[in-house]
Amino acid sequence: MSDTMKAAVFEGEGKIVLKQVPIPKIKDDFDVLLKVEAASICGTDCQILKTPPGHPATPGAILGHEYVGRVLETGKAVSHLKPGDRVAVDPNLTCGLCPYCRMAMPNMCENMTTLGIYIDGGFAEYNLAPAKALHKIPADLSTDLAIFAEPLSCVVNGATKAKLMAGESVVVLGAGPIGLYYTALMKAGGAGKVIVSEVNAQRADMARKMGADIIVNTEKDSLKDVVMAETGIGADLVIDAVGCLMTEATSICRRGARVLLFGMNSSACCECVQYEITRYELSIIGTFISNHSFPAVIRLLKGGKLPLEKLITHRLKLDDILDGIEIMKRGEGIEIIVAP
Ligand SMILES: [Zn+2]
Ligand SMILES: [Zn+2]
Repeated sequence: MSDTMKAAVFEGEGKIVLKQVPIPKIKDDFDVLLKVEAASICGTDCQILKTPPGHPATPGAILGHEYVGRVLETGKAVSHLKPGDRVAVDPNLTCGLCPYCRMAMPNMCENMTTLGIYIDGGFAEYNLAPAKALHKIPADLSTDLAIFAEPLSCVVNGATKAKLMAGESVVVLGAGPIGLYYTALMKAGGAGKVIVSEVNAQRADMARKMGADIIVNTEKDSLKDVVMAETGIGADLVIDAVGCLMTEATSICRRGARVLLFGMNSSACCECVQYEITRYELSIIGTFISNHSFPAVIRLLKGGKLPLEKLITHRLKLDDILDGIEIMKRGEGIEIIVAP
């Protein structure tokens, strides 16, 4: 093994550079050295690389927070992994000591840091991660499915809060990657009818592949009219996978419905009629990243009920990652997988 590796390093202000950097070495007893099998490009990577940036990151850090690797070497104190094991990475590292970690809300940790955003991640040949971030995956779980573990863990956290009941009608607003994962998960979870709103034809087609029953192009049809025609009273559950559609979401609810707000947009400021939330007992639920969701997600992926590999639109070598980010920025890719 040589001393250096190829890596995509964030250099601040919209800049990412592919270069040779030292291969990391085990420093702590709980460190694990991984050979990266594959990483995927997330919308957050595009936000980091926008000017002005839509998401913070640390200049000098190797990006890539959705990745799967193989264990090469472990620190002395690591007991749940051995060389050769394959792992999915939960990139959000929490302190375990702040009030939120101690309230079983590690996703609200006051001292959180993230592999691939603030410290080195998976757009590289090798990566050093703490043992607590690593979840062993079955040898026969394909990398094509395992690569979805991180974003799906966030989606499952939201779904757990939304408490889907079998047969319910669900509306998913937006069929970007997150909306598509929700569509597949709601179908697998027993939703009676999943209605997806999406104007982009490629994304609408993907929503169909994920099991959507009805897809509404809101440039042509009124979502409210379709939802009322299909449900009679409005949706049981509405999921905003965009991040600024709370007004639309509450307008298509039945009385007593839940609205799950997943998409994030720090400048979204929606008008809503508070009276309607009170009078019709709507529940507005926020959800952020994952919360102990990885074990369930790995079982879900292994169970084969989610046809997520159909979302893979591009497979690139790490050398071509800058092209991949451009494809993602143009909205032409759904799941872009990068292999070293
Ligand atoms: Zn992400
Ligand atoms: Zn904490």
